[in-house]
Amino acid sequence: MLEARGGEARIIAGGTDLVLQSQRGQCLAKAMVDITRIPGLDHIEERDGLIYIGAQVTHGQVAASPLIRSRAGVLAEACGSVGGPQIRNVGTLVGNVVNALPAADGAIALFALDAEAEVAERAGRRWTPIATLYAGVGLCTVDPCTAMITQLRFRALGKGEVGAFERLAKRRALVLPILNTAAIVGLDGDKVEKARIAIGPVAATPFVATEAAEVLVGRTPDEASVTEAAELAAQAAQPRDSLLRGSAEYRKAMVEVLVRRALWRAVEGASLQEGEDANS
Ligand SMILES: Cc1cc2nc3c(=O)[nH]c(=O)nc-3n(C[C@H](O)[C@H](O)[C@H](O)COP(=O)(O)OP(=O)(O)OC[C@H]3O[C@@H](n4cnc5c(N)ncnc54)[C@H](O)[C@@H]3O)c2cc1C
Repeated sequence: MLEARGGEARIIAGGTDLVLQSQRGQCLAKAMVDITRIPGLDHIEERDGLIYIGAQVTHGQVAASPLIRSRAGVLAEACGSVGGPQIRNVGTLVGNVVNALPAADGAIALFALDAEAEVAERAGRRWTPIATLYAGVGLCTVDPCTAMITQLRFRALGKGEVGAFERLAKRRALVLPILNTAAIVGLDGDKVEKARIAIGPVAATPFVATEAAEVLVGRTPDEASVTEAAELAAQAAQPRDSLLRGSAEYRKAMVEVLVRRALWRAVEGASLQEGEDANS
């Protein structure tokens, strides 16, 4: 259908972003192709240690999924914080990614999970790392007038690996975040084996604080190492002054607070799992 329209038709899923953009004259498409009833795009499933999420899956479905809650809880927390129940019931996780905002809650958790997206286009289907989909604020490298993201995938978190999502906003519901962060910590005994931290909106695209995460690896997660990681994350973050979100200075200071909170929650969850393992 997209091809028949020669680039003048655009994919619509939940429409929570696109309908507003269309009303504001920001969507030039002459027709919408609704993908919400195409069979085979509504799955949340695990295969060979990877979790697959189809293009029709809403934030509400992700947040409620027992599989996501147990194997990628950080994503359930992030999707559970999007908008309010009405938005979560129609807005899709894939739409959240294609809309390409650096503050998007679901996308921040997907960056922490190092997710990939399957793109279906004329030439066939291909998997690509989520970071390759972002070209700037609101700019996705996949053109919804000629191509479609059919599903997302990422490695399910294993034993001793836990994530946490933290969000700062003016209200609890129906407001975009001032800042958000997703942190994942994997413990081997009492040492950090791996860590990953994603933060938004502190750059034009969702930001992965690599140096901050690496400083934890091989160390026991204690006050000193977690504080060092949170400080490094704040140094690397480049939030802008914003009338809606507050000054750059305030937001940089809050990055440290949010990252520290997320890391501690992840560490506590991972330690609990390691402890259960040792006792069993
Ligand atoms: C009141 C309100 C509150 C909100 N609060 C939050 C919030 O707290 N946090 C947050 O992150 N977001 C929030 N949002 C934004 C929004 O709900 C999400 O970005 C949503 O996930 C978008 O998904 P959708 O299915 O509605 O996408 P649509 O609006 O249908 O589409 C969005 C974009 O993606 C494209 N697209 C959709 N599906 C595909 C696909 N499979 N392949 C290729 N392109 C595709 C469309 O062409 C369009 O460009 C809010 C929106 C509103 C209106």
